Amino acid sequence: MSIRTPLPPGSDPPPDAGSFGPVSDPKGVSEALEAWFRVAARPLPWRNPRSGYRALVSEVMLQQTQVSRVIDSFERFVARFPEPAALAAAPEPEVLAAWQGLGYYRRARLLHAAARAIVERHGGEVPSSAAELESLPGIGRYTAAAIASIVHGERVPLVDGNVTRVLCRLAGAPGRMGDPATERWAWREAGSLVQACTSPAVTNEALMELGATVCVPGTPDCARCPVAHACAARAAGRQAEVPLPKRPARRRTLRWAVLVDADVHGILLERRPARGLWASMMQPPTVEGTERDDPAALARTRCERFEAVASFVHVTSHRDVEFWVFRANSPVSPDPALGPPVRAAHGALGGHALSNAAWRALESAGAVVRTPPATRAARRAGPSASTGS
Ligand code: SF4
Repeated sequence: MSIRTPLPPGSDPPPDAGSFGPVSDPKGVSEALEAWFRVAARPLPWRNPRSGYRALVSEVMLQQTQVSRVIDSFERFVARFPEPAALAAAPEPEVLAAWQGLGYYRRARLLHAAARAIVERHGGEVPSSAAELESLPGIGRYTAAAIASIVHGERVPLVDGNVTRVLCRLAGAPGRMGDPATERWAWREAGSLVQACTSPAVTNEALMELGATVCVPGTPDCARCPVAHACAARAAGRQAEVPLPKRPARRRTLRWAVLVDADVHGILLERRPARGLWASMMQPPTVEGTERDDPAALARTRCERFEAVASFVHVTSHRDVEFWVFRANSPVSPDPALGPPVRAAHGALGGHALSNAAWRALESAGAVVRTPPATRAARRAGPSASTGS
């Protein structure tokens, strides 16, 4: 068993991941994974009962969101929309409201569009083959393979970040997360495993589970690993260095002034543009600027008298959004680009699709009477939980 010496973070990996070695003994590895998964699998709600629809909803929710946050939201979402037809028939604001707490609302819109395509093209039944699933709006190769293999047993590989990390460590391949060459190599190796295994459903889910619970980023828990005997990175004592981390994305800082206008009749809200961050969601009137702008000057463009009440930073995948929250003491002028604002009654705020950041702005001004349950759970889970929503 050999391993290449990984390069230090920040330096370039070898240009061609095709030269990485294979995972050795794919048959033995898949057998060990399957035996382990049958006793170690977490009792996640979408695993019992299983269905194509429940797998579809959970996989879309799990993209960019931690399992702990998804569990609550999943139960509520499938209770509200128990099948594709119910989701397809719902108006978009209702779907977005049910998605609150998960963030990245584009996923909710794509899931909604997928449900409509399932009703129109497949009679309301989630298709079973990876090829058909991949033709649905917003369903990529990984999600299609997850549903087709885990629910229907199709012999197709799947690769996500967890699986890539496990495969790189097993093979001792010094790939970099997120590099196309590393991903191509990982798909090839996952293909070898799924061809050699007894059960594609169990092997695929076990690979994902191992990456999520044992072979985690940073320092993996090799003492609990069912495939430690076959792991090249462990044999070389390099498991914490393989694979190389993803290249950091270029970040932008935005500075937004939020005007909270609350009275006995309710809270003034406006709808965000149909494209971009938090597209079509509701928010208190907000003036968007850059890090060079003075927050009070931004607020003054729509309100004469106001007082500063709070500021916080909301971190998304590519941006740090500085929110400067002001309590409006005189009327807030409408933004002609956004259409007429509405005054939402205090008890009815939960029926509007508001981002976690918008909720937080309202809370910081003392204007809200309710916090969505998913948001409370996220805060208990720690600061990273508010990321991106
Ligand atoms: Fe990951 Fe450690 Fe198992 Fe190797 S032995 S696959 S590094 S958990």
